[in-house]
Amino acid sequence: MRETRSRFLRVKCDDCGNEQVIFDRAATQVRCLVCERILAEPRGGKALIKAKILDVLDKDL
Ligand SMILES: [Zn+2]
Repeated sequence: MRETRSRFLRVKCDDCGNEQVIFDRAATQVRCLVCERILAEPRGGKALIKAKILDVLDKDL
């Protein structure tokens, strides 16, 4: 079964409550736009999400 589709995640920063949409295969660290807390770290494929996931957005790009 092939799972090549990428997804976007809507996450909420634990520190400041900012909601932000991030890519689930981020190749670089993703930081909160408000307080700069790390929200996701690259893990050779899927990113390690370090924030609360509110929603998963399936998008065809
Ligand atoms: Zn924040």
